[in-house]
Amino acid sequence: MPAPTSAITVPNQMRCWVLGDPGQLTLTEKPVLQPGPAEVLVRIDAIAICATDLEVIAHGAPATIGGGLPFNKNFTPGHEYMGTVARLGPGVDEFAVGDRVTVEIHAGCGRCPRCRQGMYTSCWNYGKPEKGHRANGFTTDGGFGQYAINHVNTLVRVPEGMSDAEATLVVTAGTAMYGLDSMGGLVAGESVAVLGPGPIGLLGVGVAKALGAQPVILTGTRDARLEKGLRLGADHVINVQREQPAEAVRKLTQGRGVDFVLECSGAPSALNDALWMVNRGGRICLAALFPEPVHADLGRIVVDNITVFGIRGEGRSATHRAAALMGQKRFDATIIHTHTFPLDQLPTALRYARDRVEDAIKVVVKIH
Ligand SMILES: [Zn+2]
Ligand SMILES: [Zn+2]
Repeated sequence: MPAPTSAITVPNQMRCWVLGDPGQLTLTEKPVLQPGPAEVLVRIDAIAICATDLEVIAHGAPATIGGGLPFNKNFTPGHEYMGTVARLGPGVDEFAVGDRVTVEIHAGCGRCPRCRQGMYTSCWNYGKPEKGHRANGFTTDGGFGQYAINHVNTLVRVPEGMSDAEATLVVTAGTAMYGLDSMGGLVAGESVAVLGPGPIGLLGVGVAKALGAQPVILTGTRDARLEKGLRLGADHVINVQREQPAEAVRKLTQGRGVDFVLECSGAPSALNDALWMVNRGGRICLAALFPEPVHADLGRIVVDNITVFGIRGEGRSATHRAAALMGQKRFDATIIHTHTFPLDQLPTALRYARDRVEDAIKVVVKIH
């Protein structure tokens, strides 16, 4: 339910975490900013920790502030948040104070060719706030604090009845949705293999099943994660420690292989596995970063007329479609939410996420 307008009292100062040297976060205060035209102030109610946050805090990239690394720049990381609209910028009537919203990360510049195509996660003015680009938690202040400024084009209404914690997972499902969209979208009755049972892979299973794919096959190394994939709707799971994944996928598909592969693992062998499990004329989407260059049999792409896509994040409003599926309870994203901590325990929350303490998958920080 939207909170009554009077219930949102905005202080002048807010508590937030700021990145100092690599790996060093400090809980401090910053002024609460006024939203500009086409912007709102969001009171952050909850934020999920993403593997990319751990990268940013430890190594800086892919965050960039003022054209350089984000260390000692009074920068607040965190990008998978949801909250309540607390103030409207001039001219904003798309939302009202009290609306519950979850966010997309990327507000493109709106003026480059890629933004005009809906590819705002690949904006040509990435990291240039003076051109209107924002990516909260990467190039502008993010959500490990009490308030954030968001462009209205990054806001997604939280469906009725959805909890704060579940709403933080919408952008993760949106990333999986963008991958399936990029490959052609209509997957009803077609076969999908999802490689890697991390948050995007697990919700990728949920999205693919919600879109009617059959069978959906999930591969991974840990049985506990694969078990979650079954609960999210996977028809088959393959533990790659025990079975050769491409062989196992072919066995499950009468020797033909799958129509689509959504690669979410970043494992060194993943692209090669994908090339050997996709069928003739099939499509592969790479959604995970490979930490190193990989070796793969690219001749397969030619011989079998395979198409390989790459996606960054959650473009083409895929997050809205993911929110719609979640709002209709077509899959239960909360299966991947394992732990919750308050804002002042962010370092513990990050440690749970990084070290997978108690089999942590999605760790959520509850702020209001
Ligand atoms: Zn993320
Ligand atoms: Zn742009």
